[in-house]
Amino acid sequence: MVKSEWELLVEEIRRCKKCRLHKNRKNTVPGEGSLTTKLMFIGEAPGAKEDEEGRPFVGAAGKLLTKLLEDNGISRGSVFITNVVKCRPPGNREPYDDEIEACLPYLVKQIALIKPKIIVTLGRVSSKTLCSMAGLHFTSMAKIHGSVRVAYLNGVEVKLIATYHPAAALYNPRLRTVLEKDFEIIAKVYREDSRGNRTYTLLDFFGKS
Ligand code: URA
Ligand code: SF4
Repeated sequence: MVKSEWELLVEEIRRCKKCRLHKNRKNTVPGEGSLTTKLMFIGEAPGAKEDEEGRPFVGAAGKLLTKLLEDNGISRGSVFITNVVKCRPPGNREPYDDEIEACLPYLVKQIALIKPKIIVTLGRVSSKTLCSMAGLHFTSMAKIHGSVRVAYLNGVEVKLIATYHPAAALYNPRLRTVLEKDFEIIAKVYREDSRGNRTYTLLDFFGKS
């Protein structure tokens, strides 16, 4: 990817006034992480702390997300983390359909530039949105969480995995266990994918002297 393409996109988001959410924001939250990663996480919308800092998942839910990654040997900086909408809805309400629709081109562009192999949707809003983009049916989180579904986004194959939002699991031990199990699945799919794309060198066969 040409880096300036990414920078132009971020600048466009920073200036955006395409929906009413621009009115109350302190900062836009375009997303952060590796731009060459195979693994992308998509949440719902920035909360208060994210709005303050202009960074995704930096509050309590973000701490849990970071822990779920690290417990499975994945560093936060090695993946890309973003949200369906890039500005905080007032009082942390769910984003309205017209706000999601206005903001979606940014997410579509981010996916096109990063080209992740695996997309994990955190929570119902994000899971419904990505299912609908991929032409997949969203039944309920209870039914689809943790399953790996092959999907096509703009003709590109991705593995789509929906799971619960970390915020929902913060005070619900049962959901937290479910989320932990789903992250084990996510890490396994990620490791398998990384192996499949490895380029071997002679050192892999003969070892270091
Ligand atoms: N919840 C989200 O969905 N996204 C964030 O960035 C933080 C909390
Ligand atoms: Fe623009 Fe998205 Fe923010 Fe709405 S939520 S103002 S579409 S960046």
